[in-house]
Amino acid sequence: MKKTIFLFTILLLLANCKQAEKDSGQVVAETTDKAEFSIVIHGGAGTILKKNMTPEKEAAYKAILEEAIRVGYEILKNGGTSLDAVTKTINVMEDSPLFNAGKGAVFTNAGTNELDASIMDGKTLNAGASAGTTNVKYPIDLARAIMDNSPHVMMAGNGAEKFAEEQGLELVEPSYFYTENRMNSLKRAIESEKIELDHDDKAAFYDTTIKDYKFGTVGCAALDKNGNLAAGTSTGGMTNKRWGRVGDAPIIGSGTYANNATCAVSSTGWGEYFIRAQVAHDISALMEYKGLSLEEAAKTVIGKVGDLGGDGGIVAVDKNGNVAMEFNTAGMYRATMNDKGELYLGIYND
Ligand code: ASP
Repeated sequence: MKKTIFLFTILLLLANCKQAEKDSGQVVAETTDKAEFSIVIHGGAGTILKKNMTPEKEAAYKAILEEAIRVGYEILKNGGTSLDAVTKTINVMEDSPLFNAGKGAVFTNAGTNELDASIMDGKTLNAGASAGTTNVKYPIDLARAIMDNSPHVMMAGNGAEKFAEEQGLELVEPSYFYTENRMNSLKRAIESEKIELDHDDKAAFYDTTIKDYKFGTVGCAALDKNGNLAAGTSTGGMTNKRWGRVGDAPIIGSGTYANNATCAVSSTGWGEYFIRAQVAHDISALMEYKGLSLEEAAKTVIGKVGDLGGDGGIVAVDKNGNVAMEFNTAGMYRATMNDKGELYLGIYND
């Protein structure tokens, strides 16, 4: 009996210590063992509601998410680099008209498609990004080429397209990106803008409609067997965007960030807020400077986005292979696979 009471007291003391650490703002380290490798992807966050989904559509999204993550998983399992896993995984989603990246990119107000992408290497902190390209089939490949084969980090518009050509990347006619679905979204956006802009409350119009004009950006974060982290993001941006608008996806530190000392992050959501909150780097910084766990850091930063009035989410992997999929929207297309090949697929906020 005495022994039991003694043990109970010790346990109680230990529990109190943990609580005291938490209360004093100290970090309670995650206890997870280091995974051999790890991968997580997103296919965009937004007002994704079950009531608006058919079983067929849901199955189609899940099928591509699974196909994409398996590509990255195989690369990592066979000892490939996280950079290759990120690039090839994103290529699968860029090929699918379901996502707002590559084929399936949303339309600008002028009826064009202007694509953005970025990638970052957590080992070297090297990075590449492209903005506003109209004829590069796989924008993530361009971001990668900028990182690997140029002295620059970011290229935009015609110059980026010229570089893509010089690099021998696959180019397409701009009409390749046309999909009826996205054209209908643009028509709807322009139509409701016409009606709404006659009203006085323009700010309210933007708040309620912009939220629904961004869906399906894609991104990936991965840890490879050598302990190297990488992240990448690819998007068509926002339906009805104009004036050469560029979102967070190609901004290193906002849409994408990777650092072997902390984590790799890819964002999706209302880009203006993700730029202002420096989402991807802020998560890494909270881990680096405050010792927060990935989960704590991700929750804090998405909370800050929400406080500003923005919405969206992130996927991330830390240096031990822990995964975070944090969002403040109704849903986020997402998937993760651990080193044992166990798959998780998610769409809604469950
Ligand atoms: N973040 C992207 C942008 O603002 C859109 C998205 O993630 O769906 O361009």
